[in-house]
Amino acid sequence: AQAHIDAIEKAGVLNAYIVGTPDRALKMAEVSDEKIAKGEARPLEGLPLGIKDLFATQGVHTTAGSKILEGFEPHYESNVSTQLWRDGAVMLGKLNLDEFAMGSSNETSAYGKTISPWRRNGSDAALVPGGSSGGSAAAVAAHLCLGATATDTGGSIRQPAAFTGTVGIKPTYGRCSRWGIIAYASSLDQAGPIARTVQDCAILLGSMAGHDPRDTTSVDLPVPDFEAAISRGVKGLTIGIPKEYRVEGMPEEILRLWDQGAEWLKAAGATIKEISLPHTQYALPAYYIVAPAEASSNLARYDGVRYGLRVPGKDIASMYENTRAAGFGREVKRRIMIGTYVLSAGYYDAYYVRAQKIRTLIKRDFEQAYAAGVDAILTPATPSAAFGLGEMASADPVQMYLNDVFTVTVNMAGLPGIAVPAGLDSQGLPLGLQLIGRPFDEETLFAAAQTIE
Ligand code: GLN
Repeated sequence: AQAHIDAIEKAGVLNAYIVGTPDRALKMAEVSDEKIAKGEARPLEGLPLGIKDLFATQGVHTTAGSKILEGFEPHYESNVSTQLWRDGAVMLGKLNLDEFAMGSSNETSAYGKTISPWRRNGSDAALVPGGSSGGSAAAVAAHLCLGATATDTGGSIRQPAAFTGTVGIKPTYGRCSRWGIIAYASSLDQAGPIARTVQDCAILLGSMAGHDPRDTTSVDLPVPDFEAAISRGVKGLTIGIPKEYRVEGMPEEILRLWDQGAEWLKAAGATIKEISLPHTQYALPAYYIVAPAEASSNLARYDGVRYGLRVPGKDIASMYENTRAAGFGREVKRRIMIGTYVLSAGYYDAYYVRAQKIRTLIKRDFEQAYAAGVDAILTPATPSAAFGLGEMASADPVQMYLNDVFTVTVNMAGLPGIAVPAGLDSQGLPLGLQLIGRPFDEETLFAAAQTIE
């Protein structure tokens, strides 16, 4: 814990942490020392972790990367972090993120951008760590924690993992409790770990997962031994390669790596099968209707009364307006406006209802592939390697949204997906592959990811 606290201090320029909790870390580490001395070590005893600042942590400033939560100290602890502490993990602090987890570059945080520890060969230009869990990915990659919690609504675990050469898994919707996680789009949000190896991810997910009666969408299923699953291998499995993921303009290097990934799985005994997921092209536009719609509703609670920031006004309505105008950043306001628009009476059927129908079709595409004997699906994790700081943020916002093209389908269908580092591009930057699984079959993903890693 002390070594990590020192490392965090030295790596301040990355801005991976919004809030450090070194005193708490050392106290928890002391308890761990005692447990170990008594031979009573718990499964994660003494392991120093970072917590994405979207998870409520009792008595510790929780911001969601937004100014509107300035000063908010929850009196409760998220279910996921509660389980990590139950198992002996040590809390180093709260990790930076895009404001309310809206973004793909960690550039929308009110607490400053997080910078990736990676650089292109021969260049010092700063790169984004991806987002929204950019703080989690950067901290794991830069050894500022052993592992981190993250959340994924449309790729926010897998894309930053791919950009930083780390491993990230978004489990099946319902595998982890969302209780105590600040909501972005409730029907898509899932928690999961980012860590440096597939094994570390399996160990962390084992602690984070499990039924919680306080989240009615959390599923009452036993948590498998994920760590045991990693050594299962892929012999006899059928891995699907969806032809619709060959999108135009994707770098040759990523296509080659994708083929290489399929070769590795084949060499380990899997059968490779080309498949079709015909509604893939509609996933991104449908996601950017469903997610803002839910966000506009979830974010209505930030009214200057219940949490954090309050900017006074001449009456209550102007207090709401002043608070929300000052507290939310540009991207969050854009999402609230899109969400409110697509839910409004005149446009509900044209946008929201249609997006929900597309969602059903996307889910059906996957169901058909699995029914035809496919065990997992292999795709690139992202259509590019990490981009430069400011490069996308200054462009049309749709450019940033396009980065989520391979990840959002998985959330729309509620499926598990893992991103695993698979190689470096010609500029020396990490590239990730994604494996998508059957509902509640994270075990196959761990086994296949281990084969690639
Ligand atoms: N980049 C996507 C968005 O901005 C996904 C974010 C996420 O998964 N939290 O909505």
